[in-house]
Amino acid sequence: MVRTRSDDFRWPLESDDTSGALFDGFGPERHVGRGEYRGLEFLHVNARSIINTVPASSKMPFRHTINAYRGCSHACTYCFARPTHEFLGLGLGRDFERRIVVKVNAVERARAELFSSRWRGEHIAMGTNTDPYQHAEGKYHLTRGIVEVLAERHNPFSILTKSTLVLRDLALLAETARHTSVRVNLSIGTLDREVWRLTEPGTAPPDKRIEAVRRLNDAGIACGVLVAPVLPGLSDADDQVTTVVEACRAAGAVGVTAVGLHLRPGVREHYLSWLATVRPDLTDLYAERFRRGAYQPRREQERLAALVADTVGDLPRPPAGGSRPGAVDRVVGADPMRSAATAARSDRGAEPREQLALF
Ligand code: SF4
Repeated sequence: MVRTRSDDFRWPLESDDTSGALFDGFGPERHVGRGEYRGLEFLHVNARSIINTVPASSKMPFRHTINAYRGCSHACTYCFARPTHEFLGLGLGRDFERRIVVKVNAVERARAELFSSRWRGEHIAMGTNTDPYQHAEGKYHLTRGIVEVLAERHNPFSILTKSTLVLRDLALLAETARHTSVRVNLSIGTLDREVWRLTEPGTAPPDKRIEAVRRLNDAGIACGVLVAPVLPGLSDADDQVTTVVEACRAAGAVGVTAVGLHLRPGVREHYLSWLATVRPDLTDLYAERFRRGAYQPRREQERLAALVADTVGDLPRPPAGGSRPGAVDRVVGADPMRSAATAARSDRGAEPREQLALF
């Protein structure tokens, strides 16, 4: 363990959680990853609070989130959480992928806050910043610990992930879903292994994620899929999209949403710089698609919507009542600035809602 100089980081300036400085102390403890975590650095911090309350003015479909980690070793090229690392004085490139902030007291804080007399048992969304089942979770077990506390409290929650590590907690999630609302969404943007290797180098293979969808639903845990982001020129051909949607349907997904790529400032520069290196032939296409800013023309999202609607048909009907598949909050993912009306989705019984800020 190495004590990092406090002036290497701007911890007190992190601004997306509840208030003021989030971490106790004067800087993180730096732990160098070894063995299967070689190449990673874990920056241990003690969070002052773990439940983040979304501002009332937000149109997000949830009010409360928990994120035990900052940064993500899944290293997706398009990840729009990257700029959040800059709030900490870290870089949005390699730093985001290799220097993972670990809120080591996350479970302790979750217990204190969820069992506080002030807590009213509202829904908690996890995976709203970075992946709660990224590699670090295999070492720290913070997401599992938080789920255990949520289960004990019978507190409804949802999880968005690209990781099959969620299956480690299958029995826990299944038991919890017997007592409260539990929703999992797997993010699977493509089944094209070449595109997957190129764009999501730290994630589980997409076919393994499809299998995870099947196992979660078979276990009685409502699991949908976010087909996102669909990448222009890489994974947006009609047959590429419909192949994913068909696999989701076959796996029993209770909801499918497709969302096209968007590129907000910071991520835009990072992604386009990467693209110019690996696929310079696509430069002109992206210049055209994103000529107006962060979003592609509406017709692209409408095309995705039609593809999903035409492909998915009726999704499996969830069991009646309770929190079992299909009964919980239905849509996660995409972008806080765009309404669900612009997303391509088929999610039985779901209300059109604003989407979250995620993958
Ligand atoms: S898109 Fe999700 S899984 Fe990929 S790096 Fe970002 S937070 Fe991690």
